[in-house]
Amino acid sequence: MATGKKCKHPSCTCIVPDGESYCSTFCSDAKDITELACQCDHPDCQGSLLK
Ligand SMILES: [Zn+2]
Ligand SMILES: [Zn+2]
Ligand SMILES: [Zn+2]
Repeated sequence: MATGKKCKHPSCTCIVPDGESYCSTFCSDAKDITELACQCDHPDCQGSLLK
């Protein structure tokens, strides 16, 4: 079943559509910055909750 896959940003937990790699431009721009919490601002993203 194709249920989507996780955003490639290490801290991001968003599910992206098939064929996409990142849920947002933030994640795409931050792909090389692994220390930051995700700031994609999607309510379902757990990475944005990290303090
Ligand atoms: Zn995120
Ligand atoms: Zn993301
Ligand atoms: Zn997101």
